[in-house]
Formats: sequence, C-alpha cells, structure tokens
Amino acid sequence: MSWEVVIGLEIHAQLKTNSKLFCHCSAAFGDTPNTNICPVCTAMPGVLPVLNKKVVDSAIKLGLATNCKINSINEFSRKNYFYPDSPKAYQISQFDKPICLAGYLNIMVNNELRRIDITRIHMEEDAGKLVHQGSDNISGATHSLVDLNRCSVPLLEIVSEPVIRSATEARLYMEKMRQIIRYLDIGDGNMEEGSLRCDANVSIRKRGDIKLGTKTEVKNLNSFKSVEKAINLEIDRQIDILEDGGTIIQETRHYNEATASTTSLRSKEEAHDYRYFPDPDLVPIVIDELWIETIRKELPELPEAIQKRFVNDYNLPTDHSVRLTSIKKLAEDFENAYKNRKNENITPLETANVALKYYDYFLSNNLDFSKSNHASFQIGGLTFLVNTSTVSSSTITSILPDIVNTNYDPIEYVKEKGLAQVSDTGELKSIIQDVIKENPGPAEEIKSGKMQTIGFMMGQIMQKTKGKANPGLANKMLKELLGIS
Ligand SMILES: [Zn+2]
Repeated sequence: MSWEVVIGLEIHAQLKTNSKLFCHCSAAFGDTPNTNICPVCTAMPGVLPVLNKKVVDSAIKLGLATNCKINSINEFSRKNYFYPDSPKAYQISQFDKPICLAGYLNIMVNNELRRIDITRIHMEEDAGKLVHQGSDNISGATHSLVDLNRCSVPLLEIVSEPVIRSATEARLYMEKMRQIIRYLDIGDGNMEEGSLRCDANVSIRKRGDIKLGTKTEVKNLNSFKSVEKAINLEIDRQIDILEDGGTIIQETRHYNEATASTTSLRSKEEAHDYRYFPDPDLVPIVIDELWIETIRKELPELPEAIQKRFVNDYNLPTDHSVRLTSIKKLAEDFENAYKNRKNENITPLETANVALKYYDYFLSNNLDFSKSNHASFQIGGLTFLVNTSTVSSSTITSILPDIVNTNYDPIEYVKEKGLAQVSDTGELKSIIQDVIKENPGPAEEIKSGKMQTIGFMMGQIMQKTKGKANPGLANKMLKELLGIS
C-alpha cells in the first residue's frame, strides 16, 4: 500500500537577549543553578512582568525574513498547566493574537525547490529545568532538583503547516530556519545547549486521501540527526500499526536517542485543556508600520540573496555559492578576501575554492570558525600563493593546521619554511635530467608511447624535490626532454 507522510514542525528558538522576557535577570546559559532568578521569574506574589522590547524586535525580524505578515495587535495569554519546573503554574505565551502569521521558507530537496508554509510565530517564555538524580529520566531517578535559571528566558515558537512530506525535508527546513536565525543574529541556534529544539507532528494517510490521519507529537528532538531519525521511526511505527489493521492513538511520544525508539508519554492534550486567557498583567502591544519599517531597514542581506549575487556578480557555480553562504562569516570572509586580492588576475572561483578548503578544515576538525579572526586575510594570502603557482593546492591543505587560529601571514610562512614550489626552469631541468638518467627503462617506455609511465617519472621528480616541483611545469619539461611534446 502506498502511504503519504504528513509532518508539521514546531520549532522553539531561544533568543540571544541579555535579559529574560519579563524581568532583568540574565538569560545566559550554563550558569550556577538558581543564580539568575528574581521575584518576577520565580512568581512571588504581587510581582508584575515588564516586557523586553528586544524580544519583539527579534520576532519582527524573523517574521520579515520568513515572509510573514506582522500582526499589529499583539496579546500575551496564559497557558495554564502545572509542572514543578514552572512556579507560576502557567506559561506566558501568545494564543489567538500571535506576532507573525502566514509566512514561508523555500528549501531545496533533491535539486527541487519546495515551499514550506509557516502558520505562525509567537513569543513565549521558557520553563525551568528538572535535573534528575541517579538517572537520565524521571522514572529511574531517586529525586529531582529544580533549576529556575531558564524560567522566563525568551523563545520564539515557529509553527509550520502540515506540508512537510519526509524526514529529510523536516531536517532541511529546520537547518534553513537555523541559518536564518543565525544570519539575523537573534539566536545562536545551538542545539546541544537547547537553544534550538523542535517537536514533530507526524501522521500518515493513504495517498490521494484528503482527510488527515491521526497525528502523534514526537518530542525531545535536539539534533538534526535525531529529527530525521525519530520521524522515520514514527512513520514506520504508524505504517506497521495501520497495515496490521490497528488505529493510531493521538498522543505525545518521547524520542530516546540512546535506544533509537519513541515511547508514549501521555495522550495528547487539546488547546482548550490549557484554559488560555489574555494575561491581565500585560497590555496588548501595538506594532505600527513605522516600527516594522525601522526593523526592515536593519535586516542583513539573507543567504538566498547573497547566493544569487555570488552567482550573478562573481559567476560562481551554484554549489559554491550555496556552500559559501552556509554561514554569514564565511560569505563575508570570502568576499573580503576577493575584494582585497593581491593580484588583479585572481578570480572569484580561485578565492572561493581556497575559502571552502579553509572552512572545511574547521568543520572536519571540529574547530569554531566563528572565532577565526584572521580567516579573510589568510584566505587572501593562500589564494595568492596558488594563483602565482608558489604552492600547489595540495600544499595548502598541509599548511592549514599550522596557520589557522594564528595571525600568520601564509605568504611569510611559506617563505620561512621553504615550501615554495620549484618553478626555476634551470633547477628543474637538471633534476629531470637526473631522473631520466637514473630510470632509462621507464624513459624508453614513454618514448615508445606508453604514456601512463609518466606518472611514475613524475613521482620520482616529486621525491627528489620533496614534493615542491611545480607539477604542471615539471610535466611539460619532462615531455620536452624526452622529445615527445
Ligand atoms: Zn527574573
């Protein structure tokens, strides 16, 4: 039987503000438990919340960057539920008057453009954290401790329409959302620290059916890998149940990364279970056109626009331009290196190739590229070395471990270490003549037309020059000296 998968994502993005949503406590991650708290975020009687304007600004930024309509009248509502990590016994969130509505993001899936519609984005506060003792989960713990530092840290919840059709699409959409959040500099998108997380609503239906199947909500997805893995597990589980003639129960399921399985948490609650009502302590916020336009002017150039510009202005292949814009700093470092090129004939593609090699080195060694302050300068220097054939592009790879995260000038470094290629024709000529003399057999083979032996002879030349012979030049001279060019 052919099944169609229907997925909607609820992404929670923590905002990079100094203070919390309704008080002046620090919103920093990882501080000593219960040190960033005050009477407001711990819900002492009689306190009043005061809204952090930067949160509203950030929400408008994300709304504009994701093609949403910004609602002029905003209201905060109380979502009532009890849990030990929330001393108020309600969460301040937005209900029927959220800040952003009806947006979308485009993603590329197998070289095809897919539009993922966004239902809404709303502002809300986070809850505290339970630290279970003696076990990773509550059921195996002897007791649990409460850390209220995270209480009232500002979040944006981004709700997609149920238009995602596979686990891979869900991951790509979430990656794109993180990219935009980072470009806007409104959140760090750090999934290990919980500043970006998501819940996935998953259902399946027979292909061609209009009616949606019963959905389950999978929680605790805190890495891109687990988003994809957990959704695929849930799809398989639902298909098995339906094909065995069973029915899906609407419920919330917990994803366990260690066992790669989902387990039932509770039957799914409905919105009315939370008894939402407008928070009487917070007045509605009116966002006028002037406010929106002021924020619009502050928006940075976004990845899709930069990609187009790189393809149009620099004639870069799409693949290069997509990779260069994966993070804003790399796009900037590439462009600065090219604009400050040390030779007029250096091309954007040469610079892009070096920039990507440079960035890949950080990725494959788990180094933090955001702290690499000399990247643009070093990319420029390395490109000059390749452009002038001073070093080969493979030498670049071997230099990187010594220079990244230092302020070394690559050009000086190559000079100091004597790594420059031998491009002196006189010096190369005598080396190649020696190699021919020492290998008369292979030399004869080449002369009689066995061209694959050239590789062997090049190997000998490289050995004698400790890899520093300019390969193009050496190849040409070898052929000349053997009289076959
Ligand atoms: Zn506080």
